[in-house]
Amino acid sequence: MKRWEDNVRRVTPYVPGEQPKLQKMIKLNTNENPYPPSPEVEKTLRQMETDQMRLYPDPAAGELVRAIAEYYGVKESQVFVGVGSDDVLAMAFLTFFNSDAPILFPDITYSFYDVWADTFRIPYRTIPLNDRFEICPQDYRMNNGGIIFPNPNAPTGAVLPLDAVEQIVSSSPDSVVIVDEAYVDFGAESAVGLTAKYDNLLVVQTFSKSRSMAGMRIGFAIGSEILIRYLQDVKYSFNSYTMNRTAIALGAAALRDDAWFRETVAKIEATRDRTQKELRRMGFSLHDSCANFVFASHGEMSAADIFSALRERNIFVRYFNRPRIDNYLRITIGTDEEMDQLFAALREILGLSA
Ligand code: PMP
Repeated sequence: MKRWEDNVRRVTPYVPGEQPKLQKMIKLNTNENPYPPSPEVEKTLRQMETDQMRLYPDPAAGELVRAIAEYYGVKESQVFVGVGSDDVLAMAFLTFFNSDAPILFPDITYSFYDVWADTFRIPYRTIPLNDRFEICPQDYRMNNGGIIFPNPNAPTGAVLPLDAVEQIVSSSPDSVVIVDEAYVDFGAESAVGLTAKYDNLLVVQTFSKSRSMAGMRIGFAIGSEILIRYLQDVKYSFNSYTMNRTAIALGAAALRDDAWFRETVAKIEATRDRTQKELRRMGFSLHDSCANFVFASHGEMSAADIFSALRERNIFVRYFNRPRIDNYLRITIGTDEEMDQLFAALREILGLSA
């Protein structure tokens, strides 16, 4: 080992889901939306002038911030935007989690949280979900340097009612509580309204799932003006131009077409309900999901074996070889046609008749 390697910041990175480059495949492994973004997005893209690329974008991403503030009924000074919610969350970890007391998050949750904590040297403690894979608010009543959890949780899809979210926020007034609402549009109640009441609450959302724009990388946070100001200070001490011109314009365009958004979300919810019924019929057990994925375990065959058998058929789902969840598959909700092909493959793998 070279001497200089002693001073390298070493991290064990987050492992994103596979992005295979196959012509024909069914990709249900990274919770992308199977439908395209609003036609407003395409129209806006076609009107963009390449000559403008010479110029830096607006560092404040004003057009997008205004559109988000208007859509959610908050002030512009309560909105922070970033390159996907991963960027917003990483910035929030760096900004708000600076205590010697550990930050708290569920033992089964988005697997980026422990990676950011390690990267930024933030002490953390994981709080076990109960046997039904639910977050119990009373378990978070302890000295802490901050709290973060997704609602709905990932990869379980389980939702926490808003009064339970409020219990967690109100019982830790001396630290910042982040609610990661990446999947909130698929059936959970957002905590955005609570940001008016609690200045220590930051709600983070994304355009990657419900707005079909994972490739554009747009995420945002809504919180009290003071929280947002602190986030801006860190962002401007790190990289002023996080959002590119295209993302700013197309994100704002997506928000102008609410009908498209609602229709797309409703289609996914209907397919999810059908998927849950179908999987239960095949012997899977699963809790009701409020996200654009389901989390399922089969009584007869191991998740690892089903994962591999699906993969051989070019059907990609997500398998996490982690304690408590190593017999579960996380399956993103695709189109009805994709799910029908998944069901057919599963019947074949499990030796079931149609
Ligand atoms: N939070 C959760 C819980 C997620 O599952 C994801 C998707 N990997 C993200 C945040 C980040 O999504 P994005 O950066 O695309 O907004």
